[in-house]
Amino acid sequence: MATMESLIGLVNRIQRACTVLGDHGGEGSTLPTLWEALPSVAVVGGQSSGKSSVLESIVGRDFLPRGSGIVTRRPLVLQLHKTDDGQQEYAEFLHAPNKRYTDFAAVRKEIQDETDRITGRTKHISNIPIQLSIYSPNVVNLTLIDLPGMTKVAIEGQADSIVQDIDNMVRSYVEKPNSIILAISPANQDIATSDAIKLAREVDPSGERTFGVLTKLDLMDKGTNALDVLEGRAYRLQHPWVGIVNRSQADINKNVDMIAARRREREYFSSSPDYGHLTNKMGSEYLAKLLSKHLETVIKARIPSIISLINKTIDELERELDHLGRPIAVDAGAQLYTILELCRAFDRVFKEHLDGGRPGGDRIYGVFDNQLPAALRKLPFDRHLSLQNVRKVVSEADGYQPHLIAPEQGYRRLIDSSLSFFKGPAEASVDAVHFVLKELVRKSIGETQELKRFPTLQADLAAAANEALERFREDSRKTILRLVEMESSYLTVDFFRKLPLEAEKGGNPTAPTNDRYGEGHLRRIGSNVSSYVGMVCDTLRNSIPKAVVHCQVREAKRSLLDHFYSQVGKREKKQLGVMLDEDPALMEKREAIAKRLELYKSARDEIDSVAWK
Ligand code: GDP
Ligand code: MG
Repeated sequence: MATMESLIGLVNRIQRACTVLGDHGGEGSTLPTLWEALPSVAVVGGQSSGKSSVLESIVGRDFLPRGSGIVTRRPLVLQLHKTDDGQQEYAEFLHAPNKRYTDFAAVRKEIQDETDRITGRTKHISNIPIQLSIYSPNVVNLTLIDLPGMTKVAIEGQADSIVQDIDNMVRSYVEKPNSIILAISPANQDIATSDAIKLAREVDPSGERTFGVLTKLDLMDKGTNALDVLEGRAYRLQHPWVGIVNRSQADINKNVDMIAARRREREYFSSSPDYGHLTNKMGSEYLAKLLSKHLETVIKARIPSIISLINKTIDELERELDHLGRPIAVDAGAQLYTILELCRAFDRVFKEHLDGGRPGGDRIYGVFDNQLPAALRKLPFDRHLSLQNVRKVVSEADGYQPHLIAPEQGYRRLIDSSLSFFKGPAEASVDAVHFVLKELVRKSIGETQELKRFPTLQADLAAAANEALERFREDSRKTILRLVEMESSYLTVDFFRKLPLEAEKGGNPTAPTNDRYGEGHLRRIGSNVSSYVGMVCDTLRNSIPKAVVHCQVREAKRSLLDHFYSQVGKREKKQLGVMLDEDPALMEKREAIAKRLELYKSARDEIDSVAWK
């Protein structure tokens, strides 16, 4: 069986965890909030209705900022922890853990400073709560939330919107069904005009979670009393009304201490002719006990649904994290491993493009099957081997001495110059395949699901792969140029041996023609060269694709990232971390989810540690 302390303590700890992790409900958060599932007591009331005074007298300490205007500008989550008698009282802020305040004037100062830290000098409000724990033998276990007083007008220096903003903030606390409303109304004002009751009536019409508190009983006109309200006739609630007598402004000025004030309050009720019969159900000490007991009951009733909310949310968050990818390891070894895994994933996709399975590899065949033969067909051999040009080349090669049998030099020159035409289409094939490969790298990076999170690594990979492709292209270019040069460095002797002699065609081999540069003779030379070049062209049409695949495609499959791997292996941890830099938006999202997950898990542990069953 759980004790009262352990139950409220449990909720306190979960609430603290919520604040630390930025889960305090309110606007802007699309994620489920645990905070909203936790029961708490929210103090509401108009300005100067006595909210701060009630809180202080529940605590038995003087520690809240006072003054005119809107003093409370951030919610104050006040967690009271009862300690054993004789223990020293102290306070602790969640934003400054390890610092124990025993001087409560310093607590007041810190609340003011911490308020300003968030809201600045603008005197505006913020819904980020300040969390204060008070450990004392004079308190009961209870969590209360002090909210800005509802107001009608902004003061000097405050934006007009503040009235609406406060209303929104207060509502966001009291609207949630788990909130217990401590509605403070001053007795010296008509209850029908009470801001607190107006709000409570709206958000809790049945009055099941509203506790009505009537302050300033001592300030009522002589001869009147508040029995109509306190006995529930003026405004009916499910819980009994509690009357309170706080310190007056004069008491505060005289520094009447809280313990004395509590005693005076007790005396007020016990000696009151009007309220004597209610004396055991009046006053701030009674109110504190009443709330604590109620809070305990509510928590007990809520725990099963809180547990199921926690478990359900943990499942959802885990799934979401799986979807986004888990956080990256921090040590260099694990980072290197992650990078290599990602590279391998990319490499798999890239190979699928080349080998089939994914489209794109077929475009390389397209280069060899269409582009290259078309380019070869278009080479201007007709013009190059025209009668005119043959005559020019042969006569230039002969010089002053016309050739005797066959124009050896002329043939060579005509063949050499023809062969150099092949360089163009050969280089074009190299480039075309290069661009296909480059495009496939780009596509593969985009299609590698695991890489999506890492824009920096994506860029690094693309750069490394493209650099490798450039190297392959250069190597391929040299190779195919060499193929072409090889063709001109040694001619196929057989081809010429098999050529019919001019004599057999009707001439005399020793004295072929009278005119060395006659038309028939030159035409024959042109056609011989042309058929030789045609033969070479057939060879190159087959050998260029072989060279290109060997140098570019095969290498891309085999060693696209080899250089990158060896570089990455030498990187320092810091550089590895940079490579794994994620898309900031995604990182933020994951961090938010991871934080929330941590919160829910710690809440689950908290609940497990309490024997509440
Ligand atoms: P808050 O603005 O709602 O926080 O109100 P405060 O607690 O600051 O109280 C406003 C003023 O009313 C202060 O001067 C208090 O001393 C005074 N006050 C509050 N409650 C009582 C009470 O029960 N009796 C008397 N005489 N004065 C009170
Ligand atoms: Mg106040």
